[in-house]
Parts: sequence; structure tokens; C-alpha cells
Amino acid sequence: MFERILLATDGSPDAEQALVYTRDLALRDNAQVIVVHAFESVPTYLGDPVEGRVVARHVSAGEEVANAAAAKLREAGVDLSVELLEGPAADAILSVADVRKCDLIVMGSRGHGALASLIVGSVSQRVLTGARAPVLIVKAREEQA
Ligand code: ATP
Ligand code: MG
Repeated sequence: MFERILLATDGSPDAEQALVYTRDLALRDNAQVIVVHAFESVPTYLGDPVEGRVVARHVSAGEEVANAAAAKLREAGVDLSVELLEGPAADAILSVADVRKCDLIVMGSRGHGALASLIVGSVSQRVLTGARAPVLIVKAREEQA
């Protein structure tokens, strides 16, 4: 039924469970998966060597999250690509979903943030509001959270 599934991950327990659903759906439907991770942008102060190091740290932390998810999917035999983007996560997810014509977005209910007053995290909320594709919001099983 699905041809191209977008998995949004920040490496959190809910996102890890989203990966499990993505894997099973992709294998069932022989779908392609696009793993999306957005890392925080750093304001640019021209010529500041400290800023260069901060950017490099953000990129490599982002790569680690994206590559860990990609490795798990690849091991299961899923056909996938990775999109590592800079900037607000919801914008990244929505634009990849549009440009790559994804027919399902899978993501966690919560991430690493801890604003417990929200029903779902702000990234999930913005994607739910803005996405044209169906969105599957996943929670970690209790023992994993
Ligand atoms: P908030 O960030 O609003 O404080 P939160 O961290 O609990 O709250 P979200 O950030 O909305 O919740 O996370 C929900 C889901 O969104 C995550 O499980 C993950 O699937 C996705 N997500 C969050 N951040 C990113 C990111 N930087 N890149 C890709 N996907 C992300
Ligand atoms: Mg968050």
C-alpha cells in the first residue's frame, strides 16, 4: 500500500518505536524509506573559529542519530536513503515529505524535549498540522520509555 515512507527521528524512545513500525511496514509493502533528521542551526559569526567547531559538533551528532537508524533498517533489508538537514525539524520533515512525495510519515509522539504539558511534542504537532500525507504517531512501549 505504501511506496515511500518518511521516518523522522531524533533517536528518542518514541522515535525508536516509530522505526520498528517503519521497518515492518516497509518490508510488508516493499516500500522505500527516507530517514530524516534535522540538526539545530548555529548562528553564523563570520570568522569565529569556535562557531566552526560548534557547527561540526552539531553535524556529527546529527549524523550519528541518522546513521544509527539507517543501520537498523538496512540490517533488516529495507531500501533506504538518509536526509540530514539543518534547521527546524518540522520544516525539514514537511519539505522532504513534499519534495520526495512520501505517502506516509512515521514519527514519535514525544522526543527528547520535556514539556510534559503538551499532548504531543511541538515537532509532531507542526507536522500533524502541516502534512498532506497521512501521519503515524508512535509511542514507545512503557518499558522502553
Ligand atoms: P519539544 O521538542 O516540543 O520540546 P518533544 O521533544 O517531546 O517536544 P518532538 O520534538 O515533537 O517532542 O518529538 C516528536 C517526534 O518528532 C520525535 O519522536 C521524532 O520522531 C520527531 N523529531 C523530533 N525532533 C526531530 C529532529 N530534530 N529531526 C527529525 N525528527 C525529529
Ligand atoms: Mg523535541
